[in-house]
Amino acid sequence: MMGSLGDTCCFFQKGEQCRFCGYFGSKKTFNISDFSEVACEAFNENNNITITLTNGNTSSPDRGCFCYIPIVSQINDSITRNFPGNKVPVQVECAPPEDARCLHDLFKAGVDSFSINYECFDHEVRNKVIPGKGKIPTSQYENAWRYVIDNLGNGQVSSAILFGLDTYQNTLDGLLWLINLGVRPNVIPFKPVIGAIFQFKKRPCYIEYYEICKELSTALKESSLDQIVNLGCSSCGGCNIEGDFCLLDGKRKK
Ligand code: SF4
Repeated sequence: MMGSLGDTCCFFQKGEQCRFCGYFGSKKTFNISDFSEVACEAFNENNNITITLTNGNTSSPDRGCFCYIPIVSQINDSITRNFPGNKVPVQVECAPPEDARCLHDLFKAGVDSFSINYECFDHEVRNKVIPGKGKIPTSQYENAWRYVIDNLGNGQVSSAILFGLDTYQNTLDGLLWLINLGVRPNVIPFKPVIGAIFQFKKRPCYIEYYEICKELSTALKESSLDQIVNLGCSSCGGCNIEGDFCLLDGKRKK
């Protein structure tokens, strides 16, 4: 289940939105009870669900993280009330807050994992592709990733990386850097989304995408990280393929 809490992001208001993003005004918004109702209905049909929540950024120091707290709390309360003894794993997708300790309040609300997405690695490319989000210091990403790993364990934070907007080598080096930090990369091919500034940009080469996912799969196997995280976007496999190489090896956990 993937849900959106709103249809705005502070970067759109400044014209600094990520160039691949078509989020503004294009999503139906939901209220808190909608999320808990959907979670209960979904769990009733399949008690193996996980939930990923995402939203745009805010210009406040928490960068929008705190908006998840009442939603996650109500989802967890509703699941416990309707299905005693059960909890649905919840992942939150967010930018790093200025102070990583803000994330503690999300742990308390019952968030099990995070996706804190770096998008692309080269600084010039970041300025062009994510002009607003790219101003968040890399040190704040590192602090947030480390804070999640220290508190929730290895493999509980992932980072989505778009393939096709940076060079192959920059991307590969960056993926290895993330793995070395204990962050599980999730490589997604760039897709020209209607309404995005990059809506007419060329799609990446699918052979190169295949190759980098294969290299990522090998690096994950050699690392201390689990090959497949059990929560959130990285475990879905709907828009990445590195997990398929693990499947081919017969080593997938689920
Ligand atoms: S941070 Fe970037 S990708 Fe996310 S909603 Fe804002 S503009 Fe879109």
